[in-house]
Amino acid sequence: MKHLALALLLSFPPATPLLADSTATKTRTVTRLADGVWTIRHPDAPDTFPQSNTMVIVGDRGVLVVDSCLLPSSAREDIAQIRQWTNEPVTYLVNTHWHFDHTLGNAAYLEAYPAIQIVATRHTQKTIADWNPGAVARYPARGERFRKILESGKNPDGRPLTEGERKDYERSIAGLTPVVAEMKNVVQVVPNVAFDRELRVDLGGRAVEIRFLGRGNTGGDTIVYLPKEKILATGDLLVHPVPYLFGGFPLDHPRTLRAMAELDATTIMPGHGEILRDKSYIVQVAEFLEASNAAIEAEVNSGKTLEEVQASFPRTFDVATWRAKFAGTSLEDAEFFDGTFDALIKASYNQIKAR
Ligand SMILES: [Zn+2]
Repeated sequence: MKHLALALLLSFPPATPLLADSTATKTRTVTRLADGVWTIRHPDAPDTFPQSNTMVIVGDRGVLVVDSCLLPSSAREDIAQIRQWTNEPVTYLVNTHWHFDHTLGNAAYLEAYPAIQIVATRHTQKTIADWNPGAVARYPARGERFRKILESGKNPDGRPLTEGERKDYERSIAGLTPVVAEMKNVVQVVPNVAFDRELRVDLGGRAVEIRFLGRGNTGGDTIVYLPKEKILATGDLLVHPVPYLFGGFPLDHPRTLRAMAELDATTIMPGHGEILRDKSYIVQVAEFLEASNAAIEAEVNSGKTLEEVQASFPRTFDVATWRAKFAGTSLEDAEFFDGTFDALIKASYNQIKAR
């Protein structure tokens, strides 16, 4: 379902998937990654919309937070947790990209720390300013849209709803009220510090690199890297156990992942999903995108339309093997994979045609 929720909004594992992980996140978990570095994972919002992972990095003179998540109530909970860890203020908040499941909590941080520097690439800063306020305002209309889909019995692409999808839409509608109530009272705070390639911050005994390695999930994806601790926060360039590929730049994405895999990292926080302890999953996603891009390119070069590619691709590309690599035996994750893969075909096709 989450793929439907994301696709509608954005229109835009280690080698073997861990059974414990899933595209759905049900509980809040806090994990210490190193002395003074933590990850907070957030449960999906009540309407099933995903919330980003957050990283907290504490130095002698200040704190840097990666991604503020979706619900202001979750961001406030994180801030209360940070205050238990340290008396230092949050001096920097990095938005890895513009999607508001990573940025809508910005207001809670600004309220708690009025001198905060909210950092993003120039592209992300502009997109948050231009797009997000309208997207947040349109959010309540999701209920009506989902109800219409249920009534029609068909997905937006015309495919009949499965029983699982029907249940998921019902769950989303049922959980929408508290989410909308929170969103009504929040403004999308725009980053006040923009960079193009790289920003190096010394938090006091703690060096942090904030870098743009190339496009992928969006036009302005940022990673945060601690060279000494070998810790990496990837944003949604990397999501585990199934990648989010709803738009973005699929031709650039594998190159950016390959650059990411060059970093000396042994602890990796994806944008969503469990902490990874090696780089094999980065390579797996890069290989998947490279294989899929090459196959779509061959189809485009043979003169097929998007509709023709969509129809023939399940026969010309080994979807089942890749689905099993990412989703394992989980039906829910397999459904998510099919959703993200549908979106990938379209995005790759469009990017190949446009160049
Ligand atoms: Zn996300």
